[in-house]
Amino acid sequence: MKLVFATHNANKLQEVKELLAPKYEVIGLTELNDHEDIPENEPTLEGNALVKARTIWSKYGLSCFSDDTGLEIDALGGEPGVYSARYGGPDKDPEQNMAKVLDGLKDKTDRTARFRTAVALILDGNQHVFNGTVEGTIRKEKSGAQGFGYDPIFQPEGYEITFAEMDSAEKGRISHRGRAIKALADFLKQ
Ligand code: IMP
Repeated sequence: MKLVFATHNANKLQEVKELLAPKYEVIGLTELNDHEDIPENEPTLEGNALVKARTIWSKYGLSCFSDDTGLEIDALGGEPGVYSARYGGPDKDPEQNMAKVLDGLKDKTDRTARFRTAVALILDGNQHVFNGTVEGTIRKEKSGAQGFGYDPIFQPEGYEITFAEMDSAEKGRISHRGRAIKALADFLKQ
């Protein structure tokens, strides 16, 4: 079965393709030749995920899903949360985002955080939402070169390495997105 994943992020697409293969053939927006950036202006992760999935459904009539993720840092009152992509400025630059987080935490002892993902699915016109969370801590320095976004500073609970030091299969097993996509896959198998 073919499903559109409403994303232009090649890293995320690869992670999700691996999680849903071989039963589902996941295609991204670039493969649909769609280069439009869908705005993410809703106040919640669920809201943003639904807007993206609904946009693609109404444009192409194809069953599709989309995700929205936020990093919630306890000592920063849950920031950057729904603003994770542009926390450090409008360029959505991961280096600027991580620099702002490390600066905000420089005098804090509590470094607990979590990634939270909402996945919205529009299947034959009906909408469903799935969630996934991973707890962890924010490192004092970046470590690792894999993954994307805040991966070099996020150490998942129970591990001594960051997400950026894990291969994508291992990250997918325990990550926020992996868990939300697993909930999606379990639903699709029903
Ligand atoms: P999005 O809503 O999935 O695009 O995520 C918003 C922002 O959260 C991204 O721009 C990244 O900075 C960050 N992010 C999302 N997923 C991950 C991840 O798996 N690892 C690290 N950062 C992530």
